[in-house]
This record gives sequence, C-alpha cells and structure tokens, in this order.
Amino acid sequence: MRYERPNIAAMRGYSYGEQPSDSAVVKLNTNENPYPPSPKVAQVLRDFDVETLRRYPDATASGVRRTISQQFGLDPSETVITNGGDEGIRLAVNTFVDPGECVAVTSPGYSLYSIVAAVHQCEVYEVALTDEWQLPEKTSNLLNEQGVKLFCIENPHSPTGALFPLHALAEIAESFSGLVLIDEAYVDFVDPALSHDTAKLVAAHDNVLILRTLSKGHSLAGLRLGWLMGHRDLIEPIATKTRDSYNIDTIAQRVAAAAIQDTGHAHETWQRIRAERSKLECSLIGMGFHVANSQTNFLWARCPPQVDADTIYERLRRQNILVRHFSDPPRISQFLRITIGTPKQNELLATALSQMVADP
Ligand SMILES: *Cc1c(COP(=O)(O)O)cnc(C)c1O
Repeated sequence: MRYERPNIAAMRGYSYGEQPSDSAVVKLNTNENPYPPSPKVAQVLRDFDVETLRRYPDATASGVRRTISQQFGLDPSETVITNGGDEGIRLAVNTFVDPGECVAVTSPGYSLYSIVAAVHQCEVYEVALTDEWQLPEKTSNLLNEQGVKLFCIENPHSPTGALFPLHALAEIAESFSGLVLIDEAYVDFVDPALSHDTAKLVAAHDNVLILRTLSKGHSLAGLRLGWLMGHRDLIEPIATKTRDSYNIDTIAQRVAAAAIQDTGHAHETWQRIRAERSKLECSLIGMGFHVANSQTNFLWARCPPQVDADTIYERLRRQNILVRHFSDPPRISQFLRITIGTPKQNELLATALSQMVADP
C-alpha cells in the first residue's frame, strides 16, 4: 500500500550532483567555492559552548538578520533568514501560490523550482530562453497571459552563467501582475565593474523577492543558511507564519554572523574565482569550446562538434574529475557546466579536456 498524495507519487525528486567521499576527486560539479570559509568561522566553532544547545535557538535569527539588513541598507522587517536558499524557494511557493496556480521558471534553469511547485500541486510554465540565453522579448506579457503567480529567475543565471541587467528585471517587475523571485545564489561572483546592485529593486517594487545564500559565495554550502529580502508585506507572512518555528539552528546563526561580517575574506575568494574564470574561459575557447560570458563561479561550455558532451563527462569522471552534464532539455545536451576550482584543479581539468578534444 502506498500512502503518498497522487502528485507526490507522480513527480520526480531533485537530482543531486554527485558528492563523492574521496577527497582526491577534482570536484567541479556542484558550484561549491573551492576556498575555505572565513577563519572567523573556525574561531566561532572552537569557542562554541555546547551547553548553548540545550536551549532553543533565537527563533527569528535576529543577530544574523540585523547584520544582513545593515549590510544591504534594509530594515530588519525586510528580510527573513532561511535554511539554505532552497528553503526560501519553498517558502515563496507555499506562501504566495495556491495549489493549481502557476509558477513560471526559465528553461533551461534550476530544477528545484519545478519540484517545489509539484509538491505544492502548482502548474509550471517554462519561459524558454533565447539561443543567446536571454529572456524572450515581452517576458512579462507571456507571464501575464499564462496567469503566472510567481516567476522564479536565477540572476546570474544557472546553468548558463548569464547576468540579466537590472533594468530588464525592473521592467518585468513593473508590468507583471505576479511576484518575481530573483535567485541571487551566484551574485557574489558578478564583476564589480558592472555595478549590479539589486537591493534597489526591493525599495522600488513591492512584488520582488530576492534570494541569497552563503552556500556559494561564503564557502558554506554545508551550513544551510540563506535569506529572502523584499517589501515588508512579503516578508511578514513568511517570517511569522509559513517558515518552520526554529528554522535556523544556533550553530548556523553564530557561524553565519561571523562569516557575513568578514567581508574581506569573502571578497578575496570572489576576486580569485573571477580571475580563474577568465583564465579557464580562455583555455577552453582555445580548445574549440564555445563559452558563454559567465558572471558566476562556473562556466557554461558547449563542446566542440567532434566530441560528445556525455562522453567527455564520463571520460573526466573516470579520471576523477567531476563536472555537470544535463541531457534534458535536449538543446543543452552538448554543454558542460564546470565549476571554477583552485588554479591546480582548473589546470588538471584543462589538461584532461585538451587531450580528449585532440583524441575524441
Ligand atoms: C545553490 C543554489 C541555490 C541555493 O542553494 P542553498 O545551498 O540551498 O542555499 C539556489 N538557487 C540556485 C540556482 C543555486 O544554484
């Protein structure tokens, strides 16, 4: 006898990037930051008094919230801390979309949005990106025609690495009748010369929610801490009703506050990753890959015609190098998504790839 709801029985779960236990693996498949977290994190953990765990955590993670609001120039009522960015996605769907209503996602895009929507029995509308991985013209008209309630958009985008300009998002927020969830999981890696500052959108639009996470930029994927920023009327129902009562544990709160305050350390890793990104991009292009401009900590590379992406993925894997390959939708099956690693890891990858391209 199966007891789950029919929509749960019918859906597929999230497909995780491989997490090997062997530390010798060159792991360029899940966009983790290759550099360690801030030394302040180690300090907090060393000094942590275990007795503290006897009590429930600060229910609203007020310390982290204060730190974040100060950093973004927001009021604490305009942000809510979540158990990883992923919880922010689930909370946005559960709080703002009725079962049967429609969630829009980009295709290709982060597969978790559709999974969260399926659990909540929502319809999913896919906005197909153009061949240059841009949003189609009049995206907001499409969303309005489909009666979309919530549009989830990664910016910079995953898996393509593209950054949508602020004015494009502002235009959508302006003319779309639903909510826009801007998923900024990778925004830390955007070139500072682009002056990309989305906090402005929060002030200007009451239908914009911004998602952030410490997983990528702060090297804390294992901690599970993210947050949503938006108009207080969007944040309030999440903060007071739909999130779990104690969604952030005490250790995560302490560690997060220390990591966020150590802006120097984080910025240094971002800068190193951007420099390595340019280097790896050049070497891949030299081998015949087509590489889209990336503002993230990964490259989205189309394999040269003489080689098959899935074969390359498998051959790299046999050499203990993991990258990500998606066979669905078919138009991305010739692409690899490659996380920027340490200089040494990137070199190992580049050497392996150049051999495979020379000897397909
Ligand atoms: C990594 C990621 C997230 C959030 O990850 P968490 O580890 O749950 O914080 C959200 N969106 C995208 C596109 C991501 O790649």
